[in-house]
Amino acid sequence: MARTAVCPVCGEKVEVPDDVLDGEIIEHECGAMLVVRVEGNDVRLEEFKGVEEDWGE
Ligand SMILES: [Zn+2]
Repeated sequence: MARTAVCPVCGEKVEVPDDVLDGEIIEHECGAMLVVRVEGNDVRLEEFKGVEEDWGE
């Protein structure tokens, strides 16, 4: 039961493995690096822009 999400870079569907973890980074076939955001049963993808998000939450 693979889930799908939309690539924010190219707009194509991305198949996300069922056991994917929140915060995991996957590479889409368009070449984009995507951060997986798991929200309950939904999966959202964000473009990975590097590791400069360390604002100390
Ligand atoms: Zn893509």
